[in-house]
Amino acid sequence: MPNSTPQVSFVIPVYNEESNLSMLADRLVKIMDQSPITLEAVLIDDGSRDNSRTMLQQLALSDPRFHVVLLSRNHGHQLALTAGLSVARGSEGVFVLDGDLQDPPELLDTFYAKFKEGYDVVYAVREKRKEVFYKRFAYFIFYRILKKIANIDIPLDSGDFSFISRRVVNVLNKMPEESRFIRGMRTWIGFKQIGIAYDRQERASGDSKYSFSKLVQLALNGIYNFSEFPIKFVTSLGGFAIVSSVIYLISVIVKKLFFDQVIEGFTALLFVIILFGGIQLMAIGVLGEYILRIFFQSKSRPNFIIEKEICAGKYLDE
Ligand code: UDP
Ligand code: MG
Repeated sequence: MPNSTPQVSFVIPVYNEESNLSMLADRLVKIMDQSPITLEAVLIDDGSRDNSRTMLQQLALSDPRFHVVLLSRNHGHQLALTAGLSVARGSEGVFVLDGDLQDPPELLDTFYAKFKEGYDVVYAVREKRKEVFYKRFAYFIFYRILKKIANIDIPLDSGDFSFISRRVVNVLNKMPEESRFIRGMRTWIGFKQIGIAYDRQERASGDSKYSFSKLVQLALNGIYNFSEFPIKFVTSLGGFAIVSSVIYLISVIVKKLFFDQVIEGFTALLFVIILFGGIQLMAIGVLGEYILRIFFQSKSRPNFIIEKEICAGKYLDE
């Protein structure tokens, strides 16, 4: 019965993935045909400009197990995923993956088995990555910095690829955060969580849809939303600057009083002015990052806008 409530939903954000969609759909159909659990595949189109939107609608109209959401514009991967989680019907949980087949959907069995052992979150840990060197290096450094400074214990090398139980999805759906770092929010929620190692595949085709600036934004969201380190760091930098200036002042007075040395101050003056100017600008910038987040959150805009939704073979609201 394809229309009955599914036990598990695949949740897959898609942005300009026309070259991957038919292979993705084939692999999902195969899994849904063979699996003993009832499944649906929630595919969220994040404002694609290629043929993905049309292809997804056709798919959802021809096979009721595909549940398709079209967002009103490109909202970014984290918000597309948020939209998907909000509409997913899976009564036991969801299986989150990327639309470019870097995360093999066939691993559902393994993840689901762990979930059945009593884990609420089963996250994938990237053992090996088949990606360009600079990206691997950047991820490697980022996750280790985050682990050091975050207030919660965010697991190393794990992204959004995960099985998430219904009760954790319900909590995620209630979290109104605007700047979302879902892998962190998922960890924050707690319950029993466990990692499963896997080798991250190459993109089936096409180029990464995460531009450099989107990646930096994601990384900053991770740091600013889960760590007080930046603000503590500038505070201590300020403390350090004050202490060193006092030491300097004392040394100058001692030189003048006891050794009658004339103070040649120009270079030192310039150095101190630049140093303090830099520290102050940095402190303002860090404060600004937190204030910006308060500003955006205070507007309480919806995190995403759904333009169309096709569920069980029909357009909703029609
Ligand atoms: N994606 C999205 N919106 C975006 C960028 C990416 O929905 O603005 C989707 C994309 O189609 C893919 C997933 O998010 O299914 C991960 O993106 P990508 O593979 O480009 O990231 P990478 O694996 O290179 O980090
Ligand atoms: Mg990818």
